[in-house]
Amino acid sequence: MVTQVDFSNGLHEVMVDGTHTVQAHSVIVSTGASAKWLGIESEQRLNGHGVSACAVCDGFFYRGLDVAVVGGGDTACEEASYLAKLCTKVYLLVRRNELRASHIMQDRVKNTPNIEILWNTETLEILGDHEVEGVRVKNRDSGEINEVPVKGFFVAIGHQPNTAIFKGYLDMDEQGYIITEKGSSRTNIEGVFACGDAQDKIYRQAITAAGTGCMAALDAERYLAIKGLH
Ligand SMILES: Cc1cc2nc3c(=O)[nH]c(=O)nc-3n(C[C@H](O)[C@H](O)[C@H](O)COP(=O)(O)OP(=O)(O)OC[C@H]3O[C@@H](n4cnc5c(N)ncnc54)[C@H](O)[C@@H]3O)c2cc1C
Repeated sequence: MVTQVDFSNGLHEVMVDGTHTVQAHSVIVSTGASAKWLGIESEQRLNGHGVSACAVCDGFFYRGLDVAVVGGGDTACEEASYLAKLCTKVYLLVRRNELRASHIMQDRVKNTPNIEILWNTETLEILGDHEVEGVRVKNRDSGEINEVPVKGFFVAIGHQPNTAIFKGYLDMDEQGYIITEKGSSRTNIEGVFACGDAQDKIYRQAITAAGTGCMAALDAERYLAIKGLH
């Protein structure tokens, strides 16, 4: 595990497990992004057994079934729209009485007949011993508690890029995604390249991560060759 980096000199330093330091002329950052979770026990217990953070990846398994998506932003609306094409019914669980998504996404969700938005709704627990059988929700206005029978539970409350250790060195957007030069894996630091989900908040797929990983490998190789370092 890389615990610290120092990109302030020509020769980059990467500290591993806080114990030893590796020096390199070139570094490829591919630390990915982690899905944000609600933080309830049943969510972790049933992860991979009906709980997912990626509709494009896992939606196929819920064809013809009822599912729930939690979240109120663009990601949640996109996930709900995607799942609505596969599933019989999609419940969108929104904590507030409005969506944060763009108007176009809101319209799409509201006009999809098999998406039902449950407003002011808090997820208390995902139900099921070995696989998801439903979700217990609480209406934040009335305090009323209900159980919604679903086979899939999709958490769509955002992702966090694993880039904290590079702060102060690499340029990032406001969410912490590393900024790379257009059409390249180059970062603002010479010899440091970034690929995969750490620099991609749009696609976040294995194939796109592999593609940009290939770009980073070629960019690093060329960089070393141009510098006469290999
Ligand atoms: C449950 C799930 C299912 C998915 N299914 C699909 C699918 O079916 N199809 C698809 O195309 N995509 C799928 N995806 C998305 C796909 O997995 C990612 O887009 C892809 O793995 C991103 O690759 P990456 O190399 O950028 O990051 P990751 O695969 O996340 O790899 C990052 C690695 O860096 C390591 N790391 C992080 N910080 C440090 C550090 N400080 N020091 C050392 N190592 C570190 C992590 O431990 C991890 O091993 C799925 C994702 C999830 C979560």
